[in-house]
Amino acid sequence: MAALRQWRVLESRLQNGLGFLAAWRDWKGDPDRPQLLHYVAVQANPVSPAYLVAAAAHDAALAPLAAELANQWFGLTPGTHRLTFEAGRVTLTLHVNELRDVLRHEPFVVDAVLLDERDCDLATLKAIGRHCRRGSRMEMRVAVTGAPLSATMQRDFTQCGFVVEARGGVVQGVFDPVWQPKNPLPPYGATPSRCVVVGAGLAGAAVAASLALRGWQVTVLDAADEPATGGSGVPVALLTPHFSPDAALLSRLARSGVRATVLQARQLLREGLDWRLAGSLERRAEPVDPRTLAASGHAWSRVPTAAQIAAAGLAGTKDISAVWHEQAAWIRPKALVQAWLTQPGIEWRGNTRVCSIQMEGSDWVLRNAAGEVARAPLIVVAAALESSALTGACAPLQAVRGQVSWGQQDASHAFAPFAVNGGGHFIPAVPHTSAIASEMAWFTGSTFDRDDMQRDERASDHLANLERLRALAPGVAAQLESAFAGGSVRGWAGVRCASSNRRPIVSQVRPGLWMSTAMGSRGLTFARLCAEVLAAHLHAEPLPVELRLAESLAPPVGGDANAPA
Ligand SMILES: Cc1cc2nc3c(=O)[nH]c(=O)nc-3n(C[C@H](O)[C@H](O)[C@H](O)COP(=O)(O)OP(=O)(O)OC[C@H]3O[C@@H](n4cnc5c(N)ncnc54)[C@H](O)[C@@H]3O)c2cc1C
Repeated sequence: MAALRQWRVLESRLQNGLGFLAAWRDWKGDPDRPQLLHYVAVQANPVSPAYLVAAAAHDAALAPLAAELANQWFGLTPGTHRLTFEAGRVTLTLHVNELRDVLRHEPFVVDAVLLDERDCDLATLKAIGRHCRRGSRMEMRVAVTGAPLSATMQRDFTQCGFVVEARGGVVQGVFDPVWQPKNPLPPYGATPSRCVVVGAGLAGAAVAASLALRGWQVTVLDAADEPATGGSGVPVALLTPHFSPDAALLSRLARSGVRATVLQARQLLREGLDWRLAGSLERRAEPVDPRTLAASGHAWSRVPTAAQIAAAGLAGTKDISAVWHEQAAWIRPKALVQAWLTQPGIEWRGNTRVCSIQMEGSDWVLRNAAGEVARAPLIVVAAALESSALTGACAPLQAVRGQVSWGQQDASHAFAPFAVNGGGHFIPAVPHTSAIASEMAWFTGSTFDRDDMQRDERASDHLANLERLRALAPGVAAQLESAFAGGSVRGWAGVRCASSNRRPIVSQVRPGLWMSTAMGSRGLTFARLCAEVLAAHLHAEPLPVELRLAESLAPPVGGDANAPA
C-alpha cells in the first residue's frame, strides 16, 4: 500500500465480512498507509450484523472492528450503501445487488480484487478487468488447498488480461494485459493541490472537509464575518429520511444522505448538545401500506407504535396515517459547519464577497470589488442563490424564505422526546444553547414563501407556524397557544435555495469549476452526500451512491464561466 494516496479493493462477495475487516486491520497497522482505504464489496442479500460479529469473534484484532461494522449494518436496502470508519479514512461501499449489475453500471477502478471462486467465469473476469488498472492485484481463494489451477481457468484469466499462478490454496496475480485497455477509467483522477470554496454554509463546509481529507489545501471564503450566516444559520434543523411509496429517487438519495450526516454528527458533534438521534414521527396525508414500508427497510421507516402515537399527543386523532423514522435527528447546523471548517487543511476567511471567477493561465482567479482575493486550479462554489451567477451555470435557482418559531420548554410541557414532522416540524427537548443541557427549548416551523428574500422576523409568520402546528400536532399546539399569544415566542428567518426538482445540484460547470448548491429544505441531508459525490468524481473514486443517483444530482449546467459575473 505504501506511498499511495488511496488503496481500492473490490471483493466480489463480502460473505462474512472477514476480507474487509482484514484489509482494515492491515491498513491500521501499516505505518505508510494510504490516506484512504476504499473497499467495494457486493452482497446480494445482506447477512445479519450478528453473523458479522460471530465470524470475527475469535480474532482479537478483528472482533472490535466487526463490532463497529455491525453498528453501521442497518437499512441495507437494494442499492449502494457507504459505511465509513476511522474518521472517514476507511470506507466500505456495499452494493446490495448482483455482481454483474455492479460491474456493468458502476464506474470505479481498483488496485486489488478479492475474487470468490464462484465468480471466475469468463464473462465476470472480463467485466472485472474493466475495473482494473495495469498492475491491479488479483487474489482468489480456492476451496481445495493445493489444487492446481485448471487449464480452463488459467486460459480464462489470461484471456482477460490477468497473469496468475496458484500458490497453496490461493490464486494470485496481476492485471497486465498484452493489449492497451480500451477507454481506461482514470485510476486516481485529480492530484490534490489548492482549492477555494466560496460559501461557508453546510454545502461549502462539507465540500471543504471532504477535499481536505483527500489532501487538498482548502481556503473557504464567505461574504459574512462568520460561518453559517445564510440558510445554515437556522438555530436547529431536522435531519430525517424521506419516505415515498414508490421508493422514488429522492427517498433513496435522502437515505444515503441521512446515513452520511449521522456518521459525521457521531464523529464531530457533542451528542445531546449539538445533535441527538431522537427519531421522528411523520404524519402523512395518504394511508401508508405497511408492506411498502417493509420494502423500504424497517431500520429506516416503519409503522409507529401506539405508544409513539400517544406520546406525540395524537392518540385520539381519527384516521391517523404516520411513519416512524428511526434515523432522524435534530442538529445545530452551525455546529456542524464549524466542526467541518476546523478540519486540518482548511483555512476560513470571512468578509470576502466574491464578485467574479475567471480562468487565467492554469488557475481560476476570484475577485471582489477591490481586486483579486484568491486563485486556485479548483474552485467549488457553494454560495446558495449566487452560485449560478458566479459560475456562469445555467441552473435556475429559487429563493424560498422561511421562518422558524421557538420558545422555552418548561416542566409544564408534556412533549414527546422526539420530533413530529410532515408539512412542517416540531422539535422538542433541544438544549437552550449548545453549552447548557439543562434548559430546554422547542422549535417549530417553517414558513415557505417562494421568491421572498427578506430575513425580517414577522408576527404573521409566527401565526402561520402556530396554524401549521395545530394541524400537525394539536396536543402540542394546545400547550403552546399561550406562548404564541403572550409574545414570548422567538423567531429566526432565512432564505433557502432550491432547484426546480427539489434535488441538490453538484456539478462541474467548467473544468476545475464546480458548484454544490440547491440544498432546498434538506441541507442537513444533502450537504455531506454532495461533497462526497463531488470528491468521488474528482478522484475517480467509487461513488457513495449508484451512478444513476449521482447523475440525478448533476443536471447539465454548462455555462460561460469567463463571462463577467
Ligand atoms: C427557516 C428554515 C428552516 C430550515 N429547516 C431545515 C431543516 O429542518 N432541515 C434541513 O435539512 N434544512 C433546513 N433548512 C434548509 C437549510 O438551512 C439549507 O438547505 C442549508 O442551510 C443550505 O446550505 P448552503 O450552504 O447551501 O447555503 P447557505 O447556508 O445559505 O450558505 C451560503 C453561503 O454563501 C455565502 N455567499 C453567498 N454569496 C457569496 C459570495 N458572492 N461571496 C462569498 N460568499 C457568498 C453566504 O454568505 C452563505 O454563508 C431550513 C432553512 C430555513 C430558511
